[in-house]
Amino acid sequence: MNQNYQATSVGDIEARGRVTLHNELALTGSEISINELPPGASVPFVHCHKRNEEVYLVVKGKGRFHVDGDEFEVGEGSVVRVDPAGGRCITADQQSSLRYICIQTEAKSLVQFTESDGVILETKPSWLQ
Ligand code: ZN
Repeated sequence: MNQNYQATSVGDIEARGRVTLHNELALTGSEISINELPPGASVPFVHCHKRNEEVYLVVKGKGRFHVDGDEFEVGEGSVVRVDPAGGRCITADQQSSLRYICIQTEAKSLVQFTESDGVILETKPSWLQ
C-alpha cells in the first residue's frame, strides 16, 4: 500500500530558530517555515518574491511587520498575507520573542478548497468507530 503522507516533528523551535518543511515533508504545492526570532532579533533584510505569496501566522510573542514602508504591530493571532511584489520584513519586540509560521504558495494558483476539494470517505479512525 502506498503511504499517502509524511509526518515529522520539528522539535524545539526556540532552539532551532527556523525550520523549513518543503524537503522534510516532500511538499508539492507550498513551502512552510516555522520561525522563532529571539527578543530584539529581525530578519536581516527586506525581500519580495517572483511568484509566491506568503501568509505569516503569528503563534506566540510580539513584534512588528514591514510591507512596502507600512509598519504595524503583530502578536499572537495576527495573520498577514503579502503579495509576491510586497517588500517585507519582520522583527521581534525588544522584550518578546516572536514565533510565526510562514506559508508560501504560488499566487493565484488555488482553484478549489475546503468543501469544493474535500471528499468525505466511508472509512473511520479508531476513535469514531
Ligand atoms: Zn519570503
